[in-house]
Amino acid sequence: MPLERIPLRSVEVGDGLQARRALPHRARRMVGAWCFLDHLGPLAFAAGHGLSVGPHPHIGLATFTWMIEGEVVHRDSLGNEQLIRPGQVNLMTAGRGIAHAEDSPAGAAGRLHAVQLWIALDDAHRHQAPAFRNHPDLPVLERDGCAITVLVGAAFGKASPVAVHSPLLSMDIAAAAGGSIEIPLDPAFEHALLPLVGEVAVEGAAFDQNALAYFAPGQRSVHLRCGAGSRCVLIGGTPFAEDILLWWNFVARTQDEIRTASDGWNAGRGFGDVRGSPSRRLVAPDPTGLRLRPQAR
Ligand code: MN
Repeated sequence: MPLERIPLRSVEVGDGLQARRALPHRARRMVGAWCFLDHLGPLAFAAGHGLSVGPHPHIGLATFTWMIEGEVVHRDSLGNEQLIRPGQVNLMTAGRGIAHAEDSPAGAAGRLHAVQLWIALDDAHRHQAPAFRNHPDLPVLERDGCAITVLVGAAFGKASPVAVHSPLLSMDIAAAAGGSIEIPLDPAFEHALLPLVGEVAVEGAAFDQNALAYFAPGQRSVHLRCGAGSRCVLIGGTPFAEDILLWWNFVARTQDEIRTASDGWNAGRGFGDVRGSPSRRLVAPDPTGLRLRPQAR
């Protein structure tokens, strides 16, 4: 099976935390509708130095947060305030516009390990009203030494309750004592696998947290040999049929849409207020002069 190896890069998230970004990458913009993938931690932080991502807007996408270790407070312009705990997913569907903030709980030192993905919304759903949902209970199954949490879609007869707007798959695979597993795939999907901890051999090729393994549609299964203590996340979906513009926190189709969202946020129009975040409100950078082109998929 031909595998693409996509290196991750370091990015700063909010005020001062380092994360690793897998998507978008020049060589691979999307995997299905998944258009953004940040891996945060695992890390320990001192009191006052945790996650601090102040109020900021989104349009045209859904943010998908998978919490592995630690806790984060989500606050949004719909008035939701939700503590997300390990083993839970937060799905925030921005639609035509929402703002939110993500902060470590006040005052505490702690640990943090999470994955945040964005899902591009198709034209039929990207203008819908914003929505937020916390999913505290996801199906977990044991197979061949692996604990598999079904995050999106279905696997091994278990279906995730997380409702998305395009055909997608995501699962977390943790192998405390190591394991060797064949995972059935939908051949209509493209897929990618990212080790989060330890080493995972994908069809015999070694991968760790520094590279994403991408494989094109047509695969009916993938074989993983998971090292002891390893954990990885698998994502997939049907190749996204629309050209998108991804700029800052926005997924749009035209430069005008980006400009309207950016100007609106900076002028305090169109997104509502996020209350209670201790972090500073982010300012949209000026898109003037950017050469925004629809992205090759
Ligand atoms: Mn966000």
